[in-house]
Amino acid sequence: MKKIEHIGIAVKDIQKSNELFEKLLGVKPYKEEEVSSENVMTSFFRSGPNKIELVAGLGNDAISKFVEKRGEGIHHIAFDVMDIREEMKRLKSEGFQLLSEEPKRGADNKLVCFVHPKTAGGVLIELCQEITS
Ligand code: ZN
Repeated sequence: MKKIEHIGIAVKDIQKSNELFEKLLGVKPYKEEEVSSENVMTSFFRSGPNKIELVAGLGNDAISKFVEKRGEGIHHIAFDVMDIREEMKRLKSEGFQLLSEEPKRGADNKLVCFVHPKTAGGVLIELCQEITS
């Protein structure tokens, strides 16, 4: 794991939350992107070297369920990895439960895979590898 790539925050209404975080961070989101594989809308903010991802569900998705159950708030921590398949293999061998067998295409030009929070101290972990091609 190279570094924390971003922190994911689950929100109800992406437009309202964009306005809130724009006020909070003093910058506009640099990207808004729908992720069809998860049926969510995302937006990304920079804060110095760090990134914040807002995620809102578009219906019948994991984020809507999360927000319904627990309210808006921190949803996941994403780590930047060099080789996602290698890292998935390593974590699996260490007993972590992955939420997919193969990396998926995530937002912001990344291959991603999630680690089940019940095997990671109650924290949903996202691995992400920049797609370079
Ligand atoms: Zn994320």
